[in-house]
Amino acid sequence: MTHNPFLTIDQQIMGDVYTSTKAMDNLTVLCDEFGSRFGGTPGEKQAAEFMKAKLEAYGLKNVHLEPIEYIGWRRGEVKLEIVSPIQKVIPCISLPHSPPADLTGIIMDMGDGAPDDFETRAEEIAGKIVLTNSEVNPGGVKRWIHRNEKYGRALMAGASGFIFVNHYPGYGPATGGIAPEDGGEALIPGISVSYEDGAYLQRLIKRHGQVNIHISSSDKCEPMTSWNVIADLPGQSENAQVIMMGSHYDGHDISQGAGDPASGTVAVLEAARVLAKYAGTLPHTIRFALWGVEEIGLIGSTQYVTNHLAEMNQIRFYLNMDSAGAISNKGIVLNQWPKLADLFKNWSQEMALEFGLEQSVNAHSDHYPFLMAGVPTGGIGSVGKKFSGRGYGHTKYDTLDKVTLTGLREAAVLAARLALRIASADEWPVSLRSQDEVTAVLDNPDNKEETELFNRVHAFYQAARQAN
Ligand SMILES: [Zn+2]
Repeated sequence: MTHNPFLTIDQQIMGDVYTSTKAMDNLTVLCDEFGSRFGGTPGEKQAAEFMKAKLEAYGLKNVHLEPIEYIGWRRGEVKLEIVSPIQKVIPCISLPHSPPADLTGIIMDMGDGAPDDFETRAEEIAGKIVLTNSEVNPGGVKRWIHRNEKYGRALMAGASGFIFVNHYPGYGPATGGIAPEDGGEALIPGISVSYEDGAYLQRLIKRHGQVNIHISSSDKCEPMTSWNVIADLPGQSENAQVIMMGSHYDGHDISQGAGDPASGTVAVLEAARVLAKYAGTLPHTIRFALWGVEEIGLIGSTQYVTNHLAEMNQIRFYLNMDSAGAISNKGIVLNQWPKLADLFKNWSQEMALEFGLEQSVNAHSDHYPFLMAGVPTGGIGSVGKKFSGRGYGHTKYDTLDKVTLTGLREAAVLAARLALRIASADEWPVSLRSQDEVTAVLDNPDNKEETELFNRVHAFYQAARQAN
């Protein structure tokens, strides 16, 4: 058996977490009292104030809200009507950052939305309303094809609108932002329908060859304020470095966002609660961050990195905990930091806690702005499991009843025990990457195509804005 120098603290942390229901109590307040906590809703500010008060009560230091100014989105009314060959209204929702719409057009069925199909059928797409689903490996492509990639490809092929179909039966429509990379309003309307209504539209197209629809909506973008909630467990060393753990707290407005993200949010709070008891004993600082407005473009974490750029070289590690309490096979996903692998493997043995370890990179949560700034990053992720999509995530069914106290405890304990070790280590084997090194990490076959695509979408937006 591997010697564990932290055995007593590990036992206290685990005993504390496993004899308390606080993680679930906090989740219940966040979801049942404050609702979705989506950017611009009253529950968002209530949640931020609630978490600040909790962190203060737990004994954390320097607890404060950092305001975020951004272009947010307000959901209006939306209507999808089939105009011909029959007349029928189909239930739908707008995708966040969709512009107001009054659009008539023909649907172009792009099925699963494979990248190659968008290339080869670009001429047919021009001027039409693209219909595609949330299948994450369309056309056998191995990497996760994100909603925004399909939207971007439709946009660049000249589509006039975008209909996103949930690929899970019985889950209703799935939401998700379509904001351009630098925020603001999306160029063409994007709406979402259920699996069943998508299948209906596809059958209609097959039988009649052409289906004309009208989409109207009163959604709008406007300036808003959100808040990051930050708290410290200050390190005692003269040259204290920082280990950060964070999760966003905003869910999508159609949902409680209980799994994504709140199960991760409360796991951060729970780790803060149990670690706060070691105030004044750790050499390095542990900083807890609850991010605002992740769902519509990683806005809170991006602004944090921008506003604290000079401090990035002090961060030993950023541990992302988005949805951490709700995911199965919890392990650690390192964003290509091979030098950290042995360390984490040794800790797994020392902790007598088997957790998987994976090295990969993606752009879809709050670790990303840190990764782009060169900070060593990783997160609690599902390791060794193949995903077919988000499941209940981003639907109205991502509710409290799907989350277990056991899941929350596992996430909190894993994060707290790792943070304890990172904050206590004499030496830290990695440091800030240069921008060239960051580019090299992103320049691998898995990410290259996606990175290039989003660069093209970004350029497309810039050209469109200049033309206006
Ligand atoms: Zn999330």
